[in-house]
Amino acid sequence: MLKYLYLLDNCWLYKRQDQKLHQTNQETKIVYQKVILQSQMIEKEMNLNCNQKHQQRIEKVSLDPKLNQSDKLLCYQCLLNPKLDDKQINFNATVQVIQDKQQFKKEQLENILNTNLGQIEQIQRDICIFKSKLIKQCDKIVQFTNEWISNIKQLGYQNVKYSIFNEIDNLIRNDKTIFENQQKLFQQINQLNQQYVDNVINQIQNLEFKELLIKNFENLKLNLVNINQELDKQILLLQEQKKTEESYLIQIDNIDKQLNLLPSSGIVKLVPIQTLNLSQQLRRPATFNKDRSLFISSDFLNYITIWHFENGKQDHSTTFEVGKAPRSIICSRQFNHIFTGMNGGGIYLWIQINDKEWRRSQLYQKHEHWINDMILNQAEDQLFTGGEDPYINVWSVDYLNNELTFLYNLDSKTITIFSFSLNDSENLLISCSVCEYIIWEKQQSNEWKYLCNQTTKPYFQAKFLKNNVFCVLPINQQISCLFIYEIKKGVLKQIETKTIEFINDNDWEEKMNFPILYNKLKNILVVRSKRFIYFIRQSQNDCFEIVDKIICQKDVSNGILSDDGKFLIFFDMPTLSQFTYELLYE
Ligand SMILES: [Zn+2]
Repeated sequence: MLKYLYLLDNCWLYKRQDQKLHQTNQETKIVYQKVILQSQMIEKEMNLNCNQKHQQRIEKVSLDPKLNQSDKLLCYQCLLNPKLDDKQINFNATVQVIQDKQQFKKEQLENILNTNLGQIEQIQRDICIFKSKLIKQCDKIVQFTNEWISNIKQLGYQNVKYSIFNEIDNLIRNDKTIFENQQKLFQQINQLNQQYVDNVINQIQNLEFKELLIKNFENLKLNLVNINQELDKQILLLQEQKKTEESYLIQIDNIDKQLNLLPSSGIVKLVPIQTLNLSQQLRRPATFNKDRSLFISSDFLNYITIWHFENGKQDHSTTFEVGKAPRSIICSRQFNHIFTGMNGGGIYLWIQINDKEWRRSQLYQKHEHWINDMILNQAEDQLFTGGEDPYINVWSVDYLNNELTFLYNLDSKTITIFSFSLNDSENLLISCSVCEYIIWEKQQSNEWKYLCNQTTKPYFQAKFLKNNVFCVLPINQQISCLFIYEIKKGVLKQIETKTIEFINDNDWEEKMNFPILYNKLKNILVVRSKRFIYFIRQSQNDCFEIVDKIICQKDVSNGILSDDGKFLIFFDMPTLSQFTYELLYE
């Protein structure tokens, strides 16, 4: 077994050949293994370190052209540096694009080498055949010279014989002749030698394989040049085709988006991205669109503002008038449609026409006063709305015609409805009012029916975490806990062992303006209690753990978590600030 090791660029080439040359009859059956390459990074992954040599996991790559090559890697600690250039890309997504690029390069290199080797291996087979033929021919010539030797030897046997009677006569005649037939002897020797030499020359001259082999080699020389010219062209063509593909930065962005959809159970890190001064525009409520390319915010008076949202930074796109103060905004997870619930109880459904224009539907009015919350089912064909009246209105949604149709209402028999939560299977709906929550169950007829209720101390929020598990957060100066409940066959049961205790801070005035945010895929629950925003995860043993927290400003409100769990935005009204955080998951 032969082993070749080549060093080609940053690729190591291992080539193993099993050549069975010891049996001449197998020479034409040599089997070659194709070259298989493995891309290899010169730098050791373990040794990659960030800009400031923090010895931490690399999170991002800076696009700042002023930085040295090796200073472009950024860890979490680097990201906390506010002086850092804004333009950064996800490190893992970047690595994936590089690996894809190297994989393509590796495949092309394998093709080039294997095409060349195929030709060389073919000529090697020819040489082996030549060698085998040559050996046969030489064996024949050796055989022939043996015959020659034997014939010469034969002359000896013939000439050493003598007759004693003839020799007596020769002595008497004093005949000094050595060979009786010397001329004939030399004639015979010369004749034999001449004959065999000519014959051998003839045989050697008849070895025509050599010319054939030389011709084959000359053809190969030409073939190799042509083949490599063709491969060279092909690769340039591939390179040309690649130019029409998406740019690497867009590919990285797309992979980043895919990576964001992966579940996470590792560490969560919080990176403050920016704090915006809102001046006089009180931006709330607000929401992200389906792929968080847009951030939709509103003032509390009359206007909706659409922002392009990228890497945590927002750029103004357009602002339009609503006509009344928006109290609640939600965005479709399928298309760029938004629903606004307003002071006065009306609802508009908006459709995006272009970057600057959104067209609104007619006003749908069923609520008498303002609307506090709206929720869509996953299919987005039903909308639930609730506000300052006892009714949960159920609407059917028609995006095609930008229309809502009122279906029926559910009477909560309470005075106001603040918020909703649907479970994953969408067979249970929680509606929260001031001091009571009701659980509604979906019937076979698809209509909803009262299942059970629970009264609580005034002000709280509730959110489904699992199909039959939900959490309840009291908005109360005296209580600093998140309670976990289970619902089985219409019966509610508090799971006391899972209660999450928060820091008790009685001096802090609680307000019901920060919703419970939950992302099941990323296993992250964001809850504000007193002066903290808590980040909570469910551990493998099903317990809830606080993994991090942010100390709030005076009155933070309207927390919004993007669908991929990556960005958290919240507002602080007294200081007119908007905070954006990025959540890094391992
Ligand atoms: Zn660092």
